[in-house]
Amino acid sequence: MPTVRLYNTMSRAIDVIEPLEPGHLRIYCCGPTVYDFAHIGNLRKYVCDDILVRTLRHAGLNVTHVMNVTDVDDKIINAAPGGLDAIREYTAPYTKAFFEDLATLRIQDPDVVCAATEHVDQMVDMVQKLIDRGHAYQSDGSYYFRIASFPEYGRLARIDTAGMRAGARVEVDEYSKDDVRDFALWKAHKEGEVAWDTSLGRGRPGWHIECSAMSMHYLGESFDMHTGGVDNAFPHHENEIAQAEGATGKPFVKYWIHHEHLLMDSQKMAKSLGNTFTLRDLLDRGLDPVGLRYLLASAHNRTQLNFTNEAVEQATQTVKGLHDFMRRLADAKAEEGEPSDLAEEAGEARKAFFEAMYNDLQTPQALAAMFDLVKAANIALQHKTCTSGDIEAVRDAMLEFDQILNVLDAGEEEILDEEIERMIREREEARERRDWQKADELRDVLEDQGVLLEDTADGTRWKRA
Ligand code: AMP
Ligand code: ZN
Repeated sequence: MPTVRLYNTMSRAIDVIEPLEPGHLRIYCCGPTVYDFAHIGNLRKYVCDDILVRTLRHAGLNVTHVMNVTDVDDKIINAAPGGLDAIREYTAPYTKAFFEDLATLRIQDPDVVCAATEHVDQMVDMVQKLIDRGHAYQSDGSYYFRIASFPEYGRLARIDTAGMRAGARVEVDEYSKDDVRDFALWKAHKEGEVAWDTSLGRGRPGWHIECSAMSMHYLGESFDMHTGGVDNAFPHHENEIAQAEGATGKPFVKYWIHHEHLLMDSQKMAKSLGNTFTLRDLLDRGLDPVGLRYLLASAHNRTQLNFTNEAVEQATQTVKGLHDFMRRLADAKAEEGEPSDLAEEAGEARKAFFEAMYNDLQTPQALAAMFDLVKAANIALQHKTCTSGDIEAVRDAMLEFDQILNVLDAGEEEILDEEIERMIREREEARERRDWQKADELRDVLEDQGVLLEDTADGTRWKRA
């Protein structure tokens, strides 16, 4: 099995990935808070997870991928006062929309999707364990994690807890690094808020306990990998570690992966800054979702990426170019024959592509290897210096790259009008040069797509069959 290396926020180094159970990698990816539509910054995170999981699977690992849906937290409760029915009614459309967005961006569904409101028992058990082991205390019906009881606190985010005031508490779930204080595990019921009657009393879980409890429920007390956006490292993941290791006394997670942000005008795309777009906004404006997927996938996961319309447009053109290339390969009339030089280049590109991916998900390098092959193949097709064996090797390599990229198999989609018109212009140019073979090939390609051409005195007309 090839070696996969990934940057681990905990070690601050690129580590060799060795799952606790050889061959089986257990990964938990922090999921959405379904209080609104996801914005494309959020969605970058899930594209990064998708590329990561696909790469691990390609390397031959059996991956168990778990993702939560946070359907109860401070923000949801503010937006939907009332009981469980009220928050379920409020979150259901956003949960549905989120999974539609994943599908639109061709992101594989996780193996397990778990909703916080369905795992309150596990959260209560965990808080109880923390109380029993001296890591949690009660105050006014709420329970807090006592940071002073856990000397390892701050290891992930490299936070210095020396100047911390013992017993000072923070009530909200999201706070800055300057706010290192005991954090809420369980929040006492307040009038008008959803609550569960439990052995801890009437209340509801804090955000951080949701992920510790659900990840351990599905993946065990110790598992391999945990992902989030860079903003999740503190306080969310730091608190998850404290809760999990405090409750079990065992190491929680081996590899912490944090994906960088999508920026808008050089600032983090965030609802609080009012600079977000949802995928729906962009689709309404005619942006191509596969182009967006390609754009989000093409940047390295630890590099910030600035969102612009031009960048999506360019990515869309690149994807179209790849589709055209695959069509040219399919239509090429090469001599029957054994694989030769081009097939060798395909083999090298394959090696370079996956070496780059296995080496900390270096997508830009992987894509460069793919485009080197596209270029070589285009030259060989133009000069007719390749055999049927070569073409097959190139196609196989492209399809293997696409196991990660997932931008090619748009075969089911109807060819777009502008694409048809572009090909008709190309055919007219071919006819002007008296390249009848090329002109006929283009007609055949269009016919295969169900487009019929009629040459008239006023030029070529077309219709769908
Ligand atoms: P939320 O639904 O608010 O819990 O966020 C879901 C995920 O999106 C989290 O893992 C965040 O780290 C991530 N995220 C939020 N904003 C951005 C952004 N601008 N770029 C990339 N990821 C983001
Ligand atoms: Zn989480």
